[in-house]
Amino acid sequence: MLCTLCGRYDAVYGRSYSGENLCGRCFCKTVEERVRKTVAKYEMLGPKDKIMIAVSGGKDSVTLLYILAKIEKIFPDVHLCAGTVDEGIQHYRDEALKIAKKNCQKLGIEHVVTSFKELFGYTMDEIVKLTQERGKTGLLPCSYCGVLRRKAINTMAREAGVDKLVVAHSLDDETQTMLLNIIHGDPMRIARSKPVLDVIHPNFVQRVKPLCMVPEKEVVLYAYLKGIEFQSITCPYAQTALRNDIRNMLTQMEYKHAGTLFTVFRSMERIRPALEAATKKVKLQNCRTCGEPTVGNLCRACQMLQELGIQ
Ligand SMILES: [Zn+2]
Ligand SMILES: [Zn+2]
Repeated sequence: MLCTLCGRYDAVYGRSYSGENLCGRCFCKTVEERVRKTVAKYEMLGPKDKIMIAVSGGKDSVTLLYILAKIEKIFPDVHLCAGTVDEGIQHYRDEALKIAKKNCQKLGIEHVVTSFKELFGYTMDEIVKLTQERGKTGLLPCSYCGVLRRKAINTMAREAGVDKLVVAHSLDDETQTMLLNIIHGDPMRIARSKPVLDVIHPNFVQRVKPLCMVPEKEVVLYAYLKGIEFQSITCPYAQTALRNDIRNMLTQMEYKHAGTLFTVFRSMERIRPALEAATKKVKLQNCRTCGEPTVGNLCRACQMLQELGIQ
């Protein structure tokens, strides 16, 4: 079957939600175009922005790195750099870090690395050991890692002096998160989780998500067609049973009813203004230990570290 767009090459991908059959070249172009349009639609980047992309070494972040490097060429005044947080997870993050570094070198992109060890004095492996020794907390490794990484990425971006922090959340990630919020009984979070996050404190670097309209399987196909190297093993501490169930459900829905992911995404877009209007604006203060913005007087990261007795 020939490509719907160019009519010249054999199609390699049937895009069920649009009915198109695409050759490799046209497919990659449409993905890049989708990212470019998302950036424009949500006004994610200014013409002279210095931006940092958070690169974990996984498929989403590395693929977005390639696409943004391409887009950057159209805007010569935009400066793109990459940042990786080394959580200190042996046999996992060390390998991902190498892959991230290699890809940045290949593209000639400046790469900044920071680590939990450097910022918090402990690696994730050490923190997990501590939680096991103390045996109470009731929190899974992912909870610690998520909170500490969020803080680490923000600190890294702020210290690099960038205007925007790019995170590589795909359409699948975004729709899963939205449904997770509902299932967790925290629907108001949908108001906050947008393609461009509000800056609610000057110490927060604004986060943007240019990949939020690209389905996961298209990210993978793009990486495959372009021969992009990424890390494919999952984190040894990953404990995301609920998210996995939601992922499976959405995958099945998308298979049976093409376009479901986009429909969920758009539904949330429509609900969000009402949710925002109903949420009262939280006033942030500075954490009394580290100075980072927080709702109470101690940020969640410092709270966790104190509970573990390491701060
Ligand atoms: Zn084509
Ligand atoms: Zn703090």
